[in-house]
Amino acid sequence: MSERVRTRFAPSPTGYLHLGHAYSAILAYNFAKEHDGEFILRIEDIDPSRCDQKYVEAIYEDLQWLGLEWPTPVRIQSEHYDYYQTHLDHLRDKGLLYPCICSRKDIIEEIKRSGYAPHEDEAVLLYPGICKNTEVDTDNNSYALRLNLEKALQHLENEQLFWTEILEDQDQKMPAKPENFGDIILARKDIPTTYHLSVVLDDALQDITHIIRGVDLASSTHTHRLLQELFGISTPYYMHHKLLCDPQGNRYAKRDKSKTLKSLRSEGKKPEDIYDIIGLRLSV
Ligand code: GLU
Repeated sequence: MSERVRTRFAPSPTGYLHLGHAYSAILAYNFAKEHDGEFILRIEDIDPSRCDQKYVEAIYEDLQWLGLEWPTPVRIQSEHYDYYQTHLDHLRDKGLLYPCICSRKDIIEEIKRSGYAPHEDEAVLLYPGICKNTEVDTDNNSYALRLNLEKALQHLENEQLFWTEILEDQDQKMPAKPENFGDIILARKDIPTTYHLSVVLDDALQDITHIIRGVDLASSTHTHRLLQELFGISTPYYMHHKLLCDPQGNRYAKRDKSKTLKSLRSEGKKPEDIYDIIGLRLSV
């Protein structure tokens, strides 16, 4: 590898960290250490209604307790809305965005009307294009900004995009299929960005070379590849790791309070106990 390896852990402070976070953070940390690289921490707090400063502080405490180190100052996404706005303007100037005033209910109703029944648990609700070809009154309505996928793909001359997935035995070239996710939202009605926009821009800004994150975020990578191409930024390598489960086979989740690092710590557990549970040691 020619450039210096940089990995990151980028939690959203919407709850206390659990064992699954420890696993993800340590994987990213070890990868950087093993390649003589750098590990970065970033706080992804773009949604003020779900984030809390007490969780930001707990992230620092938990990770330090686990033995991780990172350079400061830490990038706090909510302090950089202007940065995301500038990049949104860039896409808007190219005619690749359109305003959308639909609520989730409007979208579901339109999908039903058109005869397609979405599954209740369908994670991705493909936007049926209600606002795409209509003049939206942006003066009197709050609106989100959506990416016009068709135009975006045309802009890239429908080139097939790929990313490299790092696997244990051999890396794999993965085709990106942003078309499976439709006209995604890049700026919410209340916030001038979204997870997809901020994460892609910040990973590039912070020169992240290897993105190590849970397999639950693998579907986002299809969209991230498209955004990287539209912004002309380089593509990191990706490693989407397995999600850690408790002995009963359930994924660790933020709502499962008994398994937070904070509570394990207050029960007297030591970092070594956490390493044992997650099956990883810390590389030095
Ligand atoms: N902030 C995201 C989360 O906490 C993770 C972002 C990423 O790793 O791409 O779920």
